[in-house]
Amino acid sequence: MRHEKISKERIIIFRRATIYYITNTLKITVVAMVLVFIMFISKYKPMYKVTIGEETIGYVTSKEKVEQIVNDYINTQDENIAFIEVKDLPKYELNLVAWKMEDSTNSVLQKVKEESSVTYKLYAIKVENEQPQYVSTLEEAKQVVEELKNEFAGVLDLKIGVEEIFTSDLENIQSIDMSVAKVNLDTEIISNCDSIIDGIILSKPVSGVVTYRFGPRWGRSHQGIDISAATGTPIHACSKGTVEFTGWYGGYGNLIIIDHGNGIKTYYGHCSKICVSKGQEVTKDTLIGLVGSTGNSTGPHLHLEIRKNGVVQNPQNYLYK
Ligand SMILES: [Zn+2]
Repeated sequence: MRHEKISKERIIIFRRATIYYITNTLKITVVAMVLVFIMFISKYKPMYKVTIGEETIGYVTSKEKVEQIVNDYINTQDENIAFIEVKDLPKYELNLVAWKMEDSTNSVLQKVKEESSVTYKLYAIKVENEQPQYVSTLEEAKQVVEELKNEFAGVLDLKIGVEEIFTSDLENIQSIDMSVAKVNLDTEIISNCDSIIDGIILSKPVSGVVTYRFGPRWGRSHQGIDISAATGTPIHACSKGTVEFTGWYGGYGNLIIIDHGNGIKTYYGHCSKICVSKGQEVTKDTLIGLVGSTGNSTGPHLHLEIRKNGVVQNPQNYLYK
């Protein structure tokens, strides 16, 4: 009996010691973990790694701020700028980086600017064979023509040309061709862009519903329209023309560009398959590709753009009205 009692007491003592030991060990472990965590966060901080194409540009604290700055740049409101195209938008990936890591927002914007192409719009006014003068708006062009009319009052059969010019190179604007862009002194100036789509009959490349219209939305400018259609839906050319480009192009994914002449080009983005090749002649009945969701796309659709002299047009002025 006595032997048994001692043994029970010993067991109780042993149990208590064990519990005491375990609780203390746990406490120490938790304190140690907290200490390590504090040391860790005081050395590291979360930042977004920014890449453009294959290149890592740097780290930024606020992804939203950088996106806003980039969007503001793309949508620059300047009467001389027709539009700005960015080949690759920055991509972001959250990382833990050393506390001392500096913010590269400025470098990101700098890189976006370097990689983008700016198309300027301006008006050239030319009298006979004189050097043309350039102004920013049609209003200014009209004003200059009025002044020239007064200056040359009495001169018979004087030719004054006005041309709307789109260029990415302001230093080397091609001199305007009087035979294309002449207006009679008594004729109202008409922007020569108003009728260029004439002669090219466009038809729908796919049947489907427009899910995203042309123009500004969410702080960005949508350069075309999105037509929702199932993956694999055949895409036909909008009109006859020559295939100018096929292949992967940034956010467009698999892209097809067709040149219809007269400065008109159509773009077909996010294709799952491309069925034509560069240089190929197509008609509106040619199967050029299949609908997909390649590139910057969240679901199968055709991104359709119509460009006139390089400037995006609202496709719904012509199709899917
Ligand atoms: Zn689109």
